[in-house]
Amino acid sequence: MSQDNRGFNLEKVRADFPLLTRDIRGVPLVYLDNAASTLKPIHVIDRLQQYYRNETSNVHRGAHYLSSQGTVAYEASRETVRRFVNAKSIHEIIFTRGTTEAVNLVAQSWGRANFKEGDEIILTELEHHSNIVPWQMITSEKGCKIKVIPVNDIGELEFDKYLELLSPKTKMVSMSSCSNTLGTVTDVSKYIEAAHRVGAKVMIDAAQSAPQFPTDVQKLDCDFLAFSGHKVFGPYGIGALFGKEELLESMPPYQGGGSMISEVTWEKTTWAAVPQKFEAGTPAISGALGLEAALSYIMDLGFDAIIAHEHDLLEYATRELKEIPGLRVVGEAKNKAAILSFVIDGAHPSDIGSIIDQQGVAVRAGHHCCQPLMKRLGLPATVRASFSIYNTRGEVDILKQSLIKAKEFF
Ligand code: PLP
Repeated sequence: MSQDNRGFNLEKVRADFPLLTRDIRGVPLVYLDNAASTLKPIHVIDRLQQYYRNETSNVHRGAHYLSSQGTVAYEASRETVRRFVNAKSIHEIIFTRGTTEAVNLVAQSWGRANFKEGDEIILTELEHHSNIVPWQMITSEKGCKIKVIPVNDIGELEFDKYLELLSPKTKMVSMSSCSNTLGTVTDVSKYIEAAHRVGAKVMIDAAQSAPQFPTDVQKLDCDFLAFSGHKVFGPYGIGALFGKEELLESMPPYQGGGSMISEVTWEKTTWAAVPQKFEAGTPAISGALGLEAALSYIMDLGFDAIIAHEHDLLEYATRELKEIPGLRVVGEAKNKAAILSFVIDGAHPSDIGSIIDQQGVAVRAGHHCCQPLMKRLGLPATVRASFSIYNTRGEVDILKQSLIKAKEFF
């Protein structure tokens, strides 16, 4: 597992992640829960340490050295996020706690200002609860209807059905570019184009695609896009929302407080310009700096190498796991990210997860915050192994052996 034929130095990448050296239950950790959270490279850990040791200070307020340096670093992180998603301007990048907060921001701000009774919002059957519930909250208040693009039996969205759902009543389409449960990668650009033809706005949940594929908001022409820091090798409590500048300018603030105002009087408050208008209170400064380190790490590795490595792992794992009698892969879209959901005859997914955990193998088992999708699939849960840049074919072999052993319990 040293140097593979694409010049991707797997050994070096693994050495960047200290947690990979840890034993769990007396055996080396095999971490296959990357769709939930990725591990953190030393670059990110060091950046957080450096900030807390040498740089701690609040931003945008202090008249002193540390504060102004902190502000420069915080805004430089925004520029790195801009570069990562290829937005036109840093005014289009808002730091949030993650994807969930970003969807809530758009639903509560843009949605509250623009939805009216009878309007329609289109979601998909693949969505994570965080791209369903915020829309339900605002649409039930506003008297709007949610329509859902169905998924076919192999886990792909049905584009023709989507076209039938679209109408001048559609005000928003919100969908993920990659399913966290099935790994389905959707070509969202054609969905965006079709939505724009009827005048609807489009929000992309890029929580799963951001660590796996390049994100280009200008090429996509999406109106909003969100991702989470902890899934792109960054810290918890930080993420980003991209929004087209003219839309963000037109939207009311999501939360009120310090930093988001221009002037406050007892009679009236006026707002700061974007992006500050949407960043009330002290932001996650260390989180933003850690996110910058994480995104720089990804961009230095390069998506060509990341895609090639993860595609190889997915193909290998799919082939190997299918050899296990009674194991069924759930979700076999033509275009898939390195996420592999499966069930085994006669065994509950949570039991499988607990048994292989005893062998140091970390996977997720459950509904993966996708209960409507589980209902569509007729399953209560799946086991999900999700791969990242530091995983190896050897770890796939350990997963396979641990599953074969687990089967003895059923
Ligand atoms: N969307 C997708 C597709 C996800 O996989 C997740 C998390 O698993 C989220 C949204 C929510 O992300 P967060 O919990 O970081 O806000």
